[in-house]
Amino acid sequence: MGEPAAEFLSHGEVVFESCRVPYENLLGSEGAGFAIAQQRLGPGRIHHCMRWIGICERAFSLMCARAATRELAPGRALGHRQIVQEWIADSRAEIHASRLMVLHAAERIESHGLYESREEISIIKYYVANVLQRVLDRAIQTHGALGITDLTPLAYWYRHERGARIYDGPDEVHKTVVARRALRAHGLDVR
Ligand SMILES: Cc1cc2nc3c(=O)[nH]c(=O)nc-3n(C[C@H](O)[C@H](O)[C@H](O)COP(=O)(O)OP(=O)(O)OC[C@H]3O[C@@H](n4cnc5c(N)ncnc54)[C@H](O)[C@@H]3O)c2cc1C
Repeated sequence: MGEPAAEFLSHGEVVFESCRVPYENLLGSEGAGFAIAQQRLGPGRIHHCMRWIGICERAFSLMCARAATRELAPGRALGHRQIVQEWIADSRAEIHASRLMVLHAAERIESHGLYESREEISIIKYYVANVLQRVLDRAIQTHGALGITDLTPLAYWYRHERGARIYDGPDEVHKTVVARRALRAHGLDVR
């Protein structure tokens, strides 16, 4: 992944063939690698959410600055339009909700451990990833053509952070975790 101009400085796919690991280099017991990799995903996901909230805040700030300064006519800034105000208000509320949900998940991890916090982690994973996508989209729309150039960081984030809804479990998988648990409480065992 990545771009040729940046020498693909992003993620690569690693294939191990006939790979031998010296016994003293084993992390954990033999055959337990997948379980260890899975364990990293809980803290990894909440870390991504915190990073996405930071990107949302920067995009929000750029959106407001653009709405306040771009004039559609002399003395009539873009921010006078009610639809732009709605984008700003919705973004503010969604970023705030994301931050409180992530804080709650962090508190839950601290008090109950990762395993008991699976649902909270799944919820923030898809919720914040979608907030990020919406906030970036609104910020780009507010910038017009400028928004899809690389003269602001918005287009870069939009391209690169679209993966948020895919990696560490796509939205659909995390939503299944949450829905399955809710349905189980009503006697429906969905597998
Ligand atoms: C930026 C980035 C970083 C990554 N980093 C890592 C890493 O560090 N380690 C690692 O192991 N992998 C990593 N991945 C891989 C990532 O985990 C997979 O891309 C992801 O799990 C989806 O698998 P896939 O790409 O094979 O898509 P597929 O499995 O082909 O899924 C395609 C689509 O089908 C849908 N789907 C999939 N499963 C279900 C389901 N159960 N129910 C309903 N719908 C479903 C989803 O919409 C999904 O996007 C990374 C990917 C990206 C984009």
